[in-house]
Amino acid sequence: MVRRACFLLLGLVLSVVLAACALFPVKYPEYRALLSEGKTAVGKTVFRDARVFTAVDGTVLEHQDVWVSGSTIEELVPTDPSRTAEVEIDARGKTLMPGLVDMHVHTTATSWPPWYLAMPDTKHTLEAFLYSGITTVNDLGGALDEVGTLRNEVADGKRQGPRIFFAGPIITARGGYPASLISEYGVLAQAAVTDKICTQVTTPREATEAVLRRVSGGATIIKIVVADIPSGAPRLTEETIAAVVKEAHAHGLKVAAHIDDASDALLCAKLGVDLLAHGVITSALTPEEAKTLAAAKIVMVPTMVNYERFAQIAQKRYTPLQLTIDTEPKASLEQFAPKYVDAAVLTPGFFKWGDEIEAHVKTRPVNVKTALEAGVQIAVGSDAMGSVGTFAPDIHHELELLVAAGMPNADALMGATSRAAKVLMDKPHFGTIEVGKSADLLLVDGDPLTDISATQKLVVVMARGKTVQRNLPK
Ligand SMILES: [Zn+2]
Repeated sequence: MVRRACFLLLGLVLSVVLAACALFPVKYPEYRALLSEGKTAVGKTVFRDARVFTAVDGTVLEHQDVWVSGSTIEELVPTDPSRTAEVEIDARGKTLMPGLVDMHVHTTATSWPPWYLAMPDTKHTLEAFLYSGITTVNDLGGALDEVGTLRNEVADGKRQGPRIFFAGPIITARGGYPASLISEYGVLAQAAVTDKICTQVTTPREATEAVLRRVSGGATIIKIVVADIPSGAPRLTEETIAAVVKEAHAHGLKVAAHIDDASDALLCAKLGVDLLAHGVITSALTPEEAKTLAAAKIVMVPTMVNYERFAQIAQKRYTPLQLTIDTEPKASLEQFAPKYVDAAVLTPGFFKWGDEIEAHVKTRPVNVKTALEAGVQIAVGSDAMGSVGTFAPDIHHELELLVAAGMPNADALMGATSRAAKVLMDKPHFGTIEVGKSADLLLVDGDPLTDISATQKLVVVMARGKTVQRNLPK
């Protein structure tokens, strides 16, 4: 129970801890350039005769032309080949859908296993998101100035990457998670990285001040911990959580919470937290509890994929997506091979936790189904790059897991596009295929409404009107 929750952000914590320790032989995976410089289209682009999933509602429009001018969608009309454009993309037999929005990532962390000691590489990470069709991400934990700079550089066109929303460091109790774990790695690690990852507060006033620092640092959401990890570790008081929610809402920001079990989720609902950054994983969610969450209009981001990846590693059956194989170095992915897992220094706790995760393999999808049936709004997130083995493309596998848990395809796709966008902004300019919206578009081979894995068969990725120049593997 305890170990399982402890390791949730282990990838994030360890990567930064280890990066800070010059004593270790830190490695730099040999990444290939995933993207070439995007071309600014001259004139207009038309996706010709596409099946269009607008994500406005769950329906599909057949035989449509989608016109893009500059960075926006200009027209969505029945196909008319007599009208020509400067750039014509043959979309017959394919589906055009909005770019994906991953509601839980860590752009400045790494998902390489702890025994590999690899440094985070944000350039590669941002490229991998775009390469994989993720055009917007919600960064739920990282240094405020570092992620804020990345956000601005992408927004200003100085670097390629998804649109970034971000929380800055996670607000937690003094000595609470994840500081509770970092301190296990010694005073040096504690001094070097704790404040980058989290801000520890004792009083409601300190918490309010932490919110204000994030507001002035440009944060778009506030992240808190509503769980005691390991069990018995200090946790934020109700008074402090309420103070965070009040201050964040006063500045128009939502609050996301790292939770563990159903009682944490209910506490979040009671205190006005807007978003659960993980699903209920360490207990069964009852229909009554789920109804309470639904009534509170709290949005749940189950992140089933990160637990699945942990289980795969621990059970020595790690099976990355083809997109991950295409975007990560082959030699580095070898690190998940059984011989390395067997030789890993951190095995006892890791395996113990892996076994527990495996033991709850059936609980997680049932909890998602229970939440869905009660009317809880579900948005799609992966915890990519913040969790060992969960890489930038893994929202695609999260979609597969959600559908397997009983979420209808269209609903899952909305959760990864329009519904997610509405959580991030009151009036989002992205997340749907509508006239005037940002041209964040994926052309995929096949129909994700009948086969969710079709989202991985990317033919064209367009971000803010620019076609992403994806360097396919040789
Ligand atoms: Zn996370």
